[in-house]
Amino acid sequence: MIPDPSALQELVQQLHRHATPWLPAGLGSRLHWGPPVQPGPGQTEPLVLSTARLDRIVEHCVGDFTVTVQAGVPLQQLQQELAARGQWLALDWPWGSGADGSESGTVGGLVARGLAGGLRQRYLGVRDQLIGLSLMRADGTAAKAGGRVVKNVAGYDLMRLFTGSWGSLGLITELTLRTLPQPRLRRGLLLQGPLPALERLRRQALASPLMPELIEWWRPAGSVAASAAAAPEAQPALLIGLASISAEAIAEQLGTWCTSAEAVGLQAESLDPEALACRRADTPGSRANAGEQRWLLRLGLLPAQLHELLADTALLQGLGYSLVAGSGLGMAWGSAAAVPAYRVEALRRRCKELGGDLGGTLTVLEQPSGSQLPAWENAPSRPLIEAVKRQFDPLQQLARGRLPGVQA
Ligand SMILES: Cc1cc2nc3c(=O)[nH]c(=O)nc-3n(C[C@H](O)[C@H](O)[C@H](O)COP(=O)(O)OP(=O)(O)OC[C@H]3O[C@@H](n4cnc5c(N)ncnc54)[C@H](O)[C@@H]3O)c2cc1C
Repeated sequence: MIPDPSALQELVQQLHRHATPWLPAGLGSRLHWGPPVQPGPGQTEPLVLSTARLDRIVEHCVGDFTVTVQAGVPLQQLQQELAARGQWLALDWPWGSGADGSESGTVGGLVARGLAGGLRQRYLGVRDQLIGLSLMRADGTAAKAGGRVVKNVAGYDLMRLFTGSWGSLGLITELTLRTLPQPRLRRGLLLQGPLPALERLRRQALASPLMPELIEWWRPAGSVAASAAAAPEAQPALLIGLASISAEAIAEQLGTWCTSAEAVGLQAESLDPEALACRRADTPGSRANAGEQRWLLRLGLLPAQLHELLADTALLQGLGYSLVAGSGLGMAWGSAAAVPAYRVEALRRRCKELGGDLGGTLTVLEQPSGSQLPAWENAPSRPLIEAVKRQFDPLQQLARGRLPGVQA
């Protein structure tokens, strides 16, 4: 269903009166990722309610560096509108969006998933950029949190609760986000060589006053054929992104990083902005092609543990990855033919083992048909998560069977 904004509240109230289960959605680009949503009695498929018609940019306060949008505005369109005024939302294109962001989905979907990529290094995650949110509860009650100015968070911080809620707590209808001036110049560096040297440079980069805009562990999709693990291109590399308003400053930073890389025996390849964007977009599309059987995994470890995981080439054989070197979070992907289910289970065990008491996680976003790994395991805070769910959605209508941190 793609309701008109004027009919939305009445529709949600009606669904509530009949206790009908439904799934909040944006453009449906990544709706299938994660645990399957259970249809209600008498439904063959879950009822999907899309925000595609909530597609208005409500207000761009250029001088205040904020933008208010309806939840169904496509991220690509918003970035284009902001770029025309020299600004941007400092966020990566979501995984599988393509270099131009054409498969990036909506701003509401982006917040509902709450994920961030390598740019988090400098700009923090999506929840840190969200300053106001309007939502509709399962019973059709409209609510607001935050506001349209940067210093405006009082009372319960519903923004954080809804960021990463996967549509399980309510329908996000409008958002206010911070914008930033666009950096005028960008350059990238691809660093390759022995893993211990890469790890040394990673630590140096994170501690440096010359903070890169992004820094990622990276292994391209093209190198993940089952037999390719020993090939040089199948080794992990570091991708560094630099941004500045001055050509001199960026040339100086490049020079410094190249010298540091060579000092520890690494090869450094300078990338222009297009080459950097292409490398980062070298991932399969957000939707699997018909018949394609693939794994899509979200990994989470402490940043200092990632290199230990990456050293295990046998465990990671057949997987491409892009992991944020400063946060320890990121994606891994591979075909069903190259990656058997038992190895994904072993990878999950290894993440947990490395994470120890602080917890390492592996979320299965997509898996080949026939494989039934749990998308996520129970979080220690499961009782609290379930209590919050009951408050927002007492009839368990929303995204039935899909509650982050609760194993179905
Ligand atoms: C760097 C980066 C990496 C990312 N990687 C991943 C990833 O690996 N996997 C992933 O799933 N996402 C990822 N995302 C999030 C991704 O941006 C969103 O999944 C996508 O933009 C959603 O597009 P869509 O509008 O088509 O939403 P849909 O595919 O329609 O829905 C996606 C999810 O959001 C919920 N949702 C959508 N709109 C609303 C709304 N208005 N109110 C409440 N809930 C809503 C849905 O229930 C569903 O759970 C990433 C984002 C970034 C920035």
